[in-house]
Amino acid sequence: MRVVHVAAEALPFVKVGGLADVLGSLPRALAATGVRSTVLLPRYREIADPLEPLGEVAYRCCGEARRARVWGAALGGVAYRFLEVDPDWSAPYEPPEDARYLAFTQAAATWLAEQDHDLVHAHDWHAAYVVRRAPRPAVFTIHNLAFQGELEPDRFERLTGEAPEADLLHEGRVNLMKGALLAADRVTTVSPRYAREIQTPEFGMGLDAVLRSIRGKLTGILNGLDTEYWNPATDGFLPQKYDADHLERKRRNRMTLLATLRLDPGLPAVGAVTRLTWQKGFDLVLEVLPRILDLGVNFVLLGTGEAELERGFAEAARRYPRRVAFHAAFDEARAHRIYGGADYFLMPSRYEPCGLAQMIAMRYGTPPIARATGGLADTVEDGVTGVLFEEASGEGVLAGVRRILDLDAEALARAGMARDFSWGRRAQAYRELYEEAVS
Ligand code: ADP
Repeated sequence: MRVVHVAAEALPFVKVGGLADVLGSLPRALAATGVRSTVLLPRYREIADPLEPLGEVAYRCCGEARRARVWGAALGGVAYRFLEVDPDWSAPYEPPEDARYLAFTQAAATWLAEQDHDLVHAHDWHAAYVVRRAPRPAVFTIHNLAFQGELEPDRFERLTGEAPEADLLHEGRVNLMKGALLAADRVTTVSPRYAREIQTPEFGMGLDAVLRSIRGKLTGILNGLDTEYWNPATDGFLPQKYDADHLERKRRNRMTLLATLRLDPGLPAVGAVTRLTWQKGFDLVLEVLPRILDLGVNFVLLGTGEAELERGFAEAARRYPRRVAFHAAFDEARAHRIYGGADYFLMPSRYEPCGLAQMIAMRYGTPPIARATGGLADTVEDGVTGVLFEEASGEGVLAGVRRILDLDAEALARAGMARDFSWGRRAQAYRELYEEAVS
């Protein structure tokens, strides 16, 4: 089985968010199941790695003939190809996004027609248009339903040289994600529960009716964790490395973390590492933070995002210097020290397609307190590896923290550390899906 993944970002070449993690690790995991992958990306200027020139592809875009240079690289058994449709394109999501990703996918479709492959796997709206032009069966994965690739029909016509077909239109505009949902042979999203949730108006972002209409070909497959990178037994960022048989070393990490942050050494630490956006629900935490502290815990937050939330948590850290620590930064080392030092991990998401942070936390023996939604509900076992709370509200968060404090923390930690969050059987599930799509 030979698969070409088409996406906007992939580690180790270019990363903005979680999509790059998935495209960086899934193809390698697929290789172990006998699936050979090529990853096709736009050539952004920021990709500085030495790439091998592989000629050109002639394609049509905007009603005219164009050429894109093709570049290549190979890494860990995976082939990478880069299409240079615009030499001025610096980084993912740089405007005009619609024009650039439409040019990329039109070039990609032409390039694919000349490649030996069995299946195309397109990821998110940036790659959506390739699904409609793919010469072979196509799988489409929704990583983020919030961004759908919408544009006015006349602009679409200018950018492609074609009038939009009826099933590309959604409420009067072109919707590239909808077009891929209808055209793909199989559609997946990144957890089974989220696959069900997005069929409801509450989670469907305006596409719930479309998603209900394709439910026969829609499934959820959880993302895996790079368990070599995220491993407390080998993690060089931690003062003390540890495993499930040496949790006393994790307690020493906690003491180091609390001492460094000048927090109360006699109380447990609730940690969080997150983007501070509406999705992640930290406005709810801010609402009840004094009452959370009253339960007898420290709170350690690492995250950047909305200015109002950053201000709120900075203010809380000033008001409770012995109990609250906040860093508004993206800081890999600090993130590891929170996973490896906190007693509990807070994740009150309003929605969560899959979520990696809760899996990292469980692998590090830091039981999550998480909202019962999407991939959180599929990966955290309530009362066994952590706590799930139902309500997206300050009271809900508070109830979650209260409940976990009544449970045996060490038993939760051990149960979470014993779980398998690797790609293994999840890559196998993709393989089976590919086989169905091809047959
Ligand atoms: P999302 O992709 O929606 O942001 P995930 O839970 O799937 O959420 O993945 C988030 C990843 O980004 C995790 O690996 C988390 O550790 C990391 N991360 C988020 N915020 C920060 C930060 N401020 N500093 C370091 N790492 C962060």
